[in-house]
Amino acid sequence: MRVLAGAALVAMAFTGTAARAQQNPQAEAQALELLKRGIAFRTVAGPGNQTPDYAAYLKAQLVAGGFDPADIRIERIDDTAWLAARYPGTDKAAKPIYISGHMDVVEAKPEDWTRDPFTPIVENGYIFGRGATDMKYDLSTMVATLIQLKREGYRPSRDIILLASGDEETSMKTTAAMAEQYHDGELLLNIDGGGGALDEHGKPEIFGLQGAEKTYADYELTFTNPGGHSSAPTKSNAIYSLAHALAKIEAYQFPGEINDITRAGFVQGAKTADPEMAAAMRAFLANPRDAKALAVLRSEPGLIGQTGTTCVATMVNAGHATNALPQRATANINCRIFPGTSVAAVAATLAKVVGDPELKLRTLDSGTVASPASPLRPDLMKLVSDGIHARFPGVPIVPAMSAGASDSMWFRAKGVPSYGVSPIFMKGSDSFAHGLNERTPLSEIAPSIVYYKFLLQGLTK
Ligand SMILES: [Zn+2]
Repeated sequence: MRVLAGAALVAMAFTGTAARAQQNPQAEAQALELLKRGIAFRTVAGPGNQTPDYAAYLKAQLVAGGFDPADIRIERIDDTAWLAARYPGTDKAAKPIYISGHMDVVEAKPEDWTRDPFTPIVENGYIFGRGATDMKYDLSTMVATLIQLKREGYRPSRDIILLASGDEETSMKTTAAMAEQYHDGELLLNIDGGGGALDEHGKPEIFGLQGAEKTYADYELTFTNPGGHSSAPTKSNAIYSLAHALAKIEAYQFPGEINDITRAGFVQGAKTADPEMAAAMRAFLANPRDAKALAVLRSEPGLIGQTGTTCVATMVNAGHATNALPQRATANINCRIFPGTSVAAVAATLAKVVGDPELKLRTLDSGTVASPASPLRPDLMKLVSDGIHARFPGVPIVPAMSAGASDSMWFRAKGVPSYGVSPIFMKGSDSFAHGLNERTPLSEIAPSIVYYKFLLQGLTK
């Protein structure tokens, strides 16, 4: 996944400058080469998954760039693999800095694309291909940055460990496995999260730093009934029971909640939102249970998720014949749970809201874990702000909670504070992650390398 979190919080205009000279020419050329070669690996889950080959390719590039082969691990899991590459630091006792990304991509059907998704194409200042945005771009610029630091003879004070998962878009088994082994880090930089938004004229609007994510959960509601002939309706009907249950869930609002990350986002948002929205944000900050403020904020699809747990019906399936009473009616309720509330607690709430003893409620296995919000560390916030402002002075840096589920949740669940910090700024009209004709402007390569160097050196001085 790759979602710019919190973009809806702020809509503002200010001036920045994007012009810059080449600063790391070798790394820039290498990042583009890594990206082109990377897109050509079909790293899609299932038969023919080339993630292990891509991992081997990345390892070869890192070794050629000065990494000790003994510091690079590739571990297979099912049809995929994960890669860990250690850049050794001088202080063996210091906790490492982790960098998280993923090598796999979402499926792409060539017949649906204008250009072949697994043939990298550079055109009009963009690179096209599956993974061009999510997320071989950031992975390539990061690998090129690490090699550039080696080239410059940089010695970090602590280990820097790149952790590249192989199934972030699907089962996340590789991420779970890595988090089992790498959970003593000082913090984790997730380069698959965060990011900046440009308006349609190319002006930077906001930079979102992902510091928390909600827990993804699906619940199946089922009503069953003996059924019978539709010419003789019975008092109890599985479809009506389900419809009543759904109406109750539709009407139910989870309480307003706030944490450090969303608080910082609303403080920033209140400075720039229109007056009604800004007033609602301030009222919500003063009292997250303020019903009037919640009503205003929750009328905005881009904001509702930041105010608490949400649950919504996403699928229904009922009946077996047009002339029979239904024997079964089921619905899927998809929830995005605010950090701090358990999946089981939401199941209990849904059952209580429906209040029908005939309801069977089952929690589906979504392959996710609940994770706490990460603390807003002043040292990291300053580094990220300085790094982004070096390119776009004054752009608001807005901490944000994403809707789930990124690799970060596995590390947060193990106690590693994790932050989505990708430096890529894109226009809404250029965002095609997971979609057709995915593309990213090449203009992001050079500033990404400058920013990653600044961040890594700042954290390992
Ligand atoms: Zn992603």
